[in-house]
Amino acid sequence: MIHRHLVLFVGAALSLTFTVPSSVPAQTPPAEKAKPPAPDARSKAIADVVVANHILANEGVVDGYGHVSIRDPTDPNKFLMSRSNAPELVTAADVLVHDLDGNTPAPASVKLYLERFIHAEIYRARPDVNAIVHCHSPSLIPFGVTGVALRPLYHMSAFLGGGVPVFDIRKAAKGPTDMLVRTPELGKALAQSLGEHPAALMRGHGAVIVGRDIQQAVFRSVYTELNAHLQSQALALGSKVIYLDAEEAKKAEESTGGTISRPWELWLRKVKDK
Ligand SMILES: [Zn+2]
Repeated sequence: MIHRHLVLFVGAALSLTFTVPSSVPAQTPPAEKAKPPAPDARSKAIADVVVANHILANEGVVDGYGHVSIRDPTDPNKFLMSRSNAPELVTAADVLVHDLDGNTPAPASVKLYLERFIHAEIYRARPDVNAIVHCHSPSLIPFGVTGVALRPLYHMSAFLGGGVPVFDIRKAAKGPTDMLVRTPELGKALAQSLGEHPAALMRGHGAVIVGRDIQQAVFRSVYTELNAHLQSQALALGSKVIYLDAEEAKKAEESTGGTISRPWELWLRKVKDK
């Protein structure tokens, strides 16, 4: 009978010899468990577009108007956004792949957002941006029309510390318009006004807010609106408002930056429970 021998050394001095019958198979490492298939990145992004629409509606950033998009994780020259629809009503079936010229594979009968060029041209100009919100949230509007700068007056909106530019469509179009960013040229002009900032106001219209991902874009949208509301209150109480200075804004942005998944989970729960 053939035997194999296993020698086990215990410490330096002792060695033991075991005899193992050849009928017992030698132990082999367990076969590597098959990894579950990676979730389809585009499907996940579409699901995020849907919940972001619902969260922004629930938090009062968008109403029947406004839109949110995510850059297509499978193709940086495309983005995912609903067809023309009220944000609160958006479902996965409404989300269409748009290219950076604003085209979709949907039949011509499907109505698209007129202002899809806001998203297309910002994605083209800003490779760091992977999610965009366009809104008409009410507290922002006065800051687009009075010359009073929107500035961070508390830590939650510290990301506004670098300033918030105001896009004036009349200057970009060299004349009066219906106020909508309905062409690639106007989208480009808005993207230029935005520059490297996280947000830009649009005179007599609303704002555009961007993020490296959907959680950051939603976080910034909620707190830009809240900051504007609080700033109007502070200015009504007195003209000597103390804002975060540049260093405070930088430090506060760094510390809140790592926690944005916390409100996201809360906002998500609120829309899931509805
Ligand atoms: Zn709009």
